[in-house]
Amino acid sequence: MYSDIILREGELVLKGKNRRDFEFRLIKNVKRVTKEFTSIKIERSFGRIYIRNANENTQEIINRTKLIPGIFNISPILKTNKDLDNIKEKALELLKKSIGNKKTFKVEAKRGDKSYALDSMEISRQVGGYILAKYEGELEVNVKNPDIVINIEITFTSANIYSEKIRGAGGLPIGSSGKALTLLSGGIDSPVAIWHGLKRGVDMDAIHFYSFPFTSERSKEKVVDLAKILSKFKGNMKLYVINFTEIQKIIGIKCPKEYYITIMRRFMMRIATAVANKYEYKALFTGESIGQVASQTLESMAAINAVTNIPILRPLASMDKHDIIEISREIGTYETSILPYEDCCTVFVPENPVIKPLISVCEDGEKELDIDKLVEDAINSSTLITIYEDGNIKEEPLI
Ligand code: ATP
Ligand code: MG
Repeated sequence: MYSDIILREGELVLKGKNRRDFEFRLIKNVKRVTKEFTSIKIERSFGRIYIRNANENTQEIINRTKLIPGIFNISPILKTNKDLDNIKEKALELLKKSIGNKKTFKVEAKRGDKSYALDSMEISRQVGGYILAKYEGELEVNVKNPDIVINIEITFTSANIYSEKIRGAGGLPIGSSGKALTLLSGGIDSPVAIWHGLKRGVDMDAIHFYSFPFTSERSKEKVVDLAKILSKFKGNMKLYVINFTEIQKIIGIKCPKEYYITIMRRFMMRIATAVANKYEYKALFTGESIGQVASQTLESMAAINAVTNIPILRPLASMDKHDIIEISREIGTYETSILPYEDCCTVFVPENPVIKPLISVCEDGEKELDIDKLVEDAINSSTLITIYEDGNIKEEPLI
């Protein structure tokens, strides 16, 4: 029934001089998720993107575009010419579709084209009157708090009629806030952390620590699969796969058992920091949530942060698992995240990990390790996987 879709841009308006760049990125992302619909046409005008000729693909296009950061809300529209009789018919058609058990409505008209013969009040009044006459006794007008609002916009070329406003992802277009690196495991949380970064316009790549043969090839493939799902939002994505085997072994031999996880996390941070500095990522993201497990206490975060001075952002810090799971379902990573796999961290988990680690004990425990060399060797024996938009992947040594 719908012909076109309006995507309304969100916080872009606030961003003054960067606006053109933001809009360019947004359009690029809209084109990416709709590229297989060859009959549509995408147009921009005054803080909106119009998808023309969406027709029978309307619902699918809405499902895809509502996950694009920077899109505030979405309305499927009935487009018609500006003849008032046509407008009335289309408005009635839309109302019929939305009525259900609803009892009250109002018509709200707006004119972009000020030369239109009737003013907004008059359009609302006439269309409202027409609908009311068809539904006598069933529907009433309620201006303050109606069950249904029929919106009519008169533009220079057409009339747009719609009633739904579907909430979009909000946030900022991907790439407009620089780039960052997320520590991506195969679990539920870290892919959601990536999504949160993307939503604020950060171009996110990922780093994964992999301990073959303690963890299987399959566990790496799972992380690649997660990155593939996430790359749908942003296009090409990089995944740095760090060879973590030697570091895990030596920590197991030389460090206090209950500090095993904390020290391992400190190494992850050191390596992620080195990679971030080398490839110009401005921040690191993790999927940690306060108190979710023993290694995610504030003390533990402090011990982990102490080895780096680049910002570590934890967008899930204050979220409950339940809410994190909900988002992971929405973005499509949940089903992959829950597949069984061995995390490199779970293989060596001590029975009683320290809950409130002390930085001094970490430092003491690391004394016998040649930290710089371990970090350097790990990076030098790692790989870079590039996940392309078309689903292809390229794997090459990280140098
Ligand atoms: P997730 O669901 O993201 O795995 P989790 O609840 O299992 O989180 P932890 O295993 O304690 O939590 O890991 C905390 C965070 O540390 C993860 O969210 C991730 O950012 C990072 N991390 C853990 N293991 C790895 C790994 N093997 N490679 C990269 N990052 C990791
Ligand atoms: Mg995990």
